[in-house]
Amino acid sequence: MRRDLFAMLPHARCLALNTSFEPLTLVPVRRALRLVIDGKAEIVEAERGRFFRSERLAIPRPAVIRLVRFVHVPRKFRRQVTNTFLFARDGYRCQYCGRSVGELRGRECLTRDHLRPISLGGTNAWTNVTTACSTCNTKKGNRPAAECGMRLRTSPREPHFVHLAWAVRRLTSIQAKYIRMFYGEATLAELSRW
Ligand SMILES: [Zn+2]
Repeated sequence: MRRDLFAMLPHARCLALNTSFEPLTLVPVRRALRLVIDGKAEIVEAERGRFFRSERLAIPRPAVIRLVRFVHVPRKFRRQVTNTFLFARDGYRCQYCGRSVGELRGRECLTRDHLRPISLGGTNAWTNVTTACSTCNTKKGNRPAAECGMRLRTSPREPHFVHLAWAVRRLTSIQAKYIRMFYGEATLAELSRW
């Protein structure tokens, strides 16, 4: 039965809210449905007219779910830096030479650069990583940014969840409504200037 229900799910994502309505993360719709069926989450917003059906169940396709029990999210988990989010934070642009991903040539690609290299005790914290094209990253080598005469265009900071979600453009307008509810109109206005 469940296999039927979950078959053919698109790769759409659902916004998961904490009990407090704090936006937590985007989860695959498939996982959101499972949380709802298991009684761990409730559907706050569904996509109009779209249902997943099995022989006994017809569940609206969730766009926003809210967890039934409050989840304490460890700070470390929330600060985990993935390349997807790192590149989005930096506008898909090398922070040394300023070229965008579309301006790279041949085999060049965007990479993660550690201002203070891991080998010298640097970490993967938001404030120690930046987007660098592969050429700049090679030129910088295993040296701290400050010692190799390469200037960063922006000093890295920890981005806001909302900025990231928006930057990778996975939020639907329904989901954006909940971001606005929790973080306020000013945040969305700031984002629209990107
Ligand atoms: Zn570069």
